[in-house]
Amino acid sequence: RQAQYSELRNKPCKTKDGQPIELMINAGLVIDLPHIEDTGSAGIGLFRTELQFMVSASLPRSSDQLALYRTVLDAAGNRPVTFRTLDIGGDKALPYMETVIEENPALGWRAIRLGLDRPGLLRGQIRALLRAGGGRSLRIMFPMISEVAEFDTAKAIVERELTYLRQHGHTLPERVDVGTMLEVPALLYQLDELLSKVDFISVGSNDLFQFLFAVDRGNAKVSERFDTLSAPILRALQEIVRKAKAAKKSVSLCGEMASKPIGALALIALGYRSLSLSATAHGPVKAMILELDAAKAETKMAEWLAAPAGSFSMRQKLTQFAETE
Ligand code: PEP
Ligand code: MG
Repeated sequence: RQAQYSELRNKPCKTKDGQPIELMINAGLVIDLPHIEDTGSAGIGLFRTELQFMVSASLPRSSDQLALYRTVLDAAGNRPVTFRTLDIGGDKALPYMETVIEENPALGWRAIRLGLDRPGLLRGQIRALLRAGGGRSLRIMFPMISEVAEFDTAKAIVERELTYLRQHGHTLPERVDVGTMLEVPALLYQLDELLSKVDFISVGSNDLFQFLFAVDRGNAKVSERFDTLSAPILRALQEIVRKAKAAKKSVSLCGEMASKPIGALALIALGYRSLSLSATAHGPVKAMILELDAAKAETKMAEWLAAPAGSFSMRQKLTQFAETE
């Protein structure tokens, strides 16, 4: 199996009917970096910067952050890397930072909320990212944005730091793209406004699913109760990709859904052409893509989604499609 997947490495990632699909990897630590090469991926679609903070005994200094981001960009070469700013708080507590006892940590003081309330931390991180990106292209993404104003505030920090670095004679990135994760359902109803401001979006299907179904992603008693491959989720994902395409903004998905061949199949059938997944999932997902008739999958998906929700199992339809086509 493994040998078979490594054979796929150098094949262009295209469906049987010739649609190019961009496959990227999710990463967060230096040990993940060799996977960019050995999977033959198009880059890093999600770099979880909080991992450096989580494995560290004390707050990583700016020089440590800068060094890591440089290492990551060097390893990626010309391939894009999307750095997500700190997604800490909630269940990802840092032992050396103030801890807040919260009844609903997933809904609590975490990610960009914490970042905007403690701007020193976020500013320092953004400065390190901008410095690491000096002379190259850089992509910065914010986690858990819930309203457009939060994106505006976070983006203004990037602009301010760019001005600061310019004034201090640093080499600036050639280009900075600023985008957001889409993982809070409220954003579904602000898509037009949001898309007019961002350079790109990436769907965080793990959290989006958790919040849409009000089901704790870490609680085994309920986490499998509802199906990710069901009409409410697929309709939301369809709305996102349609609006992003209409607004000519790039859209990707970096949650676990993309790491399963059947999930990736559903996403391509919905119109997604860029996915970011765990390195180990790369082979199986690429193998599925090479065999897929994307146009046919899109037609089928449109048909299934036009039926009343719950008329049949979407998962079963997709599985049948995968087996017979
Ligand atoms: C997600 O929510 O889907 C996501 C990619 O972010 P994380 O899993 O780090 O919360
Ligand atoms: Mg998330």
